[in-house]
Amino acid sequence: MKQRIMISLAPFFLSSCLTAYAGSQLKQEPVLHHNDLPINYVEPSSQVILKTEEKIKDLFNLQYDNEYTIQKIGTQTYWIGVQYYNATVIINDEGVLVIDPLGPDSAKALFNAITSITDKPITAIIYSHYHLDHIGGTNTLIALNNKKYPNNAKHHIRIIANKQINDNIKQYASLSNNGSRIPKVPLPTETFSKSMKTIHFGKQQLILKRLKGAGHTKDNTLILLPEERVIHFADMINPDQLPFYNFAGAEHFPHGYIRDLNYLVSDKFSTKWDFINGGHGNIGTKTDIQKLLDYIHDLTKATKEALNSADYPTNKADGNHFIWFKHWQNTITKQVKERLRNKYSHMYGFDAGVVESHAAMVLNELMDH
Ligand SMILES: [Zn+2]
Repeated sequence: MKQRIMISLAPFFLSSCLTAYAGSQLKQEPVLHHNDLPINYVEPSSQVILKTEEKIKDLFNLQYDNEYTIQKIGTQTYWIGVQYYNATVIINDEGVLVIDPLGPDSAKALFNAITSITDKPITAIIYSHYHLDHIGGTNTLIALNNKKYPNNAKHHIRIIANKQINDNIKQYASLSNNGSRIPKVPLPTETFSKSMKTIHFGKQQLILKRLKGAGHTKDNTLILLPEERVIHFADMINPDQLPFYNFAGAEHFPHGYIRDLNYLVSDKFSTKWDFINGGHGNIGTKTDIQKLLDYIHDLTKATKEALNSADYPTNKADGNHFIWFKHWQNTITKQVKERLRNKYSHMYGFDAGVVESHAAMVLNELMDH
């Protein structure tokens, strides 16, 4: 992190500059009109399709106690959770398509989950983005699939991803002793460089799209299953939970991140889907997206208020000025958390320190721009 503040400027910042800055910040702050309908928490089912007012009950304990959790979310579509990561799986006449094979430690459980609901082999994989915690288990998954379905092993599994993901896989490949590069996951067999691509898996159509905000990463892909009214969009939301630390490493926070979330609930796109698999958390709906936008709005407001009331400590006895920033940042982020306590303390992870990490990101944005 770069040095954020000059001591001689601190009083100026605190008294006027940041107040002015704050007023012009985050122009995409959402205006929200959503009905906070009660959620009906139900036992997970691989047979009965979830209703939009339902979520999986007691998800933390379920995922802690069980190898996997399966919930049907469309006529051919399943949400499968393993160790707090979630894949989307389509099963039809073509075989099994997996969106995100999950990490190396989760791929076996994911495979066991799939084989518990179908005898069909995996014949296609989609990578949402090149983060190994979501796709690093691909080799394991394919090896298990080939072992169980040796006849199928003769045929290559389709692996579909955008070119940016393909480039990232190459860039982050391991170097072998002889200097050759070994990708950590199989390279895609089908790539596309345009922002949008329609593919087919049996009769199921899938639309793969990179959004303009690139909120999480540049290569992150929104995958829409139009017939099923399901989207898979990794690391943008933990439905029914607060966002993970630092908004799960959102590379373009806040503007790109908010832009992408707004797209999901825009007039243009919101009519196309009912369920979101965010790769983490419960199964989400448009209400969850709106609640997240609401949270960012409240977080930003609280950070601006805390910023305006926090003194910048300058203590010669500290012997360095870095620590003054840290004390100042901690004061503000703790205040933000207290300001949000009333509305958000019931939410998953509130006291885990995530709110402070979110507030620090908003604070950086307010200071930097
Ligand atoms: Zn990620």
